[in-house]
Amino acid sequence: MNIVLLGAPGAGKGTQADLLSAYLQVPHVATGDLFREALRNNTCLGQQAKEYMDRGELVPDSITVAMVRERLAQPDCARGVILDGFPRTIEQAEALDALLSELDRQLDLVVFIRVRPEVLVERLSGRWICHDCQGVYHTLFNPPEVPGVCDACDGELFQRVDDRPETQRYRIEVYLRQTAPLVEWYRERGLLVEVDGEREIDRIQEDLREAVARVRAAG
Ligand code: AMP
Repeated sequence: MNIVLLGAPGAGKGTQADLLSAYLQVPHVATGDLFREALRNNTCLGQQAKEYMDRGELVPDSITVAMVRERLAQPDCARGVILDGFPRTIEQAEALDALLSELDRQLDLVVFIRVRPEVLVERLSGRWICHDCQGVYHTLFNPPEVPGVCDACDGELFQRVDDRPETQRYRIEVYLRQTAPLVEWYRERGLLVEVDGEREIDRIQEDLREAVARVRAAG
């Protein structure tokens, strides 16, 4: 199954993608994580992406699509993938269709996780990420057992530079301008399922699994 999770920064895409990835046994591919990893490894890709990421802007489509193409061609993606944070523009959505058809595959489902902007800001402010496994925590909604330490792998937790208040607001604006139009784009193509992202993590996950089951039953 090839699934896209769509939603604003802070909507919970990463948390839901991790759970769904464990359930379906297909990789969770997050373009933001791929860029941050490239940056940690000081690669050319990381250097190219850094200035855009620090400002909260989108990395140019050509760079992003090339990175996704490379990742989707890896053997662990052969059974399917859960994409988080990609596509983020109509051009990227068109490129994804082309990439999948090159691999003789197609997109099966797009889940839009809907969260109001005021709630997004609150979520981004308390967000902590694991350095090692990229697990996502929240001071209020999903705290780690030991502050600053990942429950899953004991890695150190950090707050993202681009989760700072000024950059947060800008990232939400960028989302509304460039990514939100994808909701209607995918709805018109009959691929979209919308879920209320302002509920318990487990309730949202149940909706995602139901959506997957419906697609499987129809296919
Ligand atoms: P995220 O972790 O998904 O919030 O992404 C962090 C940052 O990585 C974004 O603010 C962008 O600068 C960059 N990024 C991630 N995914 C994409 C994408 N699909 N297109 C362009 N830039 C992206």
